[in-house]
Amino acid sequence: MTYYFKQKLLGDLASTIKGMLHFQQSVESWMDDAGIDISDSQYKKLAKYVDLLKGKNEQLNLTRIVDSQEVWIKHILDSLIAAPFFKIEAGMKVIDIGTGGGLPGIPLAILFPSVQFTLVDATQKKIDAVREFAHELNLNNVNCIAERIEVLGQNPDYRDQFDLVLSRALAPLRVLIELSVPLIHLYGNVVAYKGPEYISELSDARNAVAKLQCEQPKVLQYSLPENKGNRTIILITKKRVTPNIYPRRDGMPANRPL
Ligand code: SAH
Repeated sequence: MTYYFKQKLLGDLASTIKGMLHFQQSVESWMDDAGIDISDSQYKKLAKYVDLLKGKNEQLNLTRIVDSQEVWIKHILDSLIAAPFFKIEAGMKVIDIGTGGGLPGIPLAILFPSVQFTLVDATQKKIDAVREFAHELNLNNVNCIAERIEVLGQNPDYRDQFDLVLSRALAPLRVLIELSVPLIHLYGNVVAYKGPEYISELSDARNAVAKLQCEQPKVLQYSLPENKGNRTIILITKKRVTPNIYPRRDGMPANRPL
């Protein structure tokens, strides 16, 4: 290799490393703005998860977003910067329903190693991939289950067992309420990650809120860094024991919404 090419290669490498360090600093400062501290090893795990997700995506269609920076902002940061809006602390039992490729469950499990996460999806292949991600990332606070949420909601091992249910891009709020509320104990919370258009979902969910005996939903708003859009968190607290008929059998919550 000529001297010129060696120098060029070294120069390219140096600028890639500089770019990577600069991006890590940006992530840390975005997280800082949201009031979240992240350690170097947590950053590295999140970066590894971005690579794993992108790697499996070609086979499994886990996300429409493929550019690394977009994955970071629209998936990883979206999952994490909402966390200060809800109570999540050591010892809690959290379930992520319809986790797909592990969102928001995997980034949150990296950020909160003392919280127990159960990640559920009906698609076996997706859950196999997420289990592999958790293994590769050395996450021993993650349990993955391939099952329909309607089935878990009627299983005494899962019904009323969780402090918090998370869901992102799963279903309209009225459907989500029927699927999620049976899984939390009294005064537990449901967190629905939504986009900016939540108003009609809220009004359509009035009947579901009443039937599932919840408090009025609370709406919290935040913006993604780099002007990547506005997002909404809808928080719902369970105030009475859920009637036994909910969730109705497989497919009913989505096909005949309350
Ligand atoms: N939460 C992820 C994936 C959203 S796509 C993200 O934010 O990217 C919705 C996922 O929910 C799909 O993977 C689908 O298989 C799963 N899903 C939909 N209805 C379900 C049900 N009733 N039970 C279990 N999983 C369900």
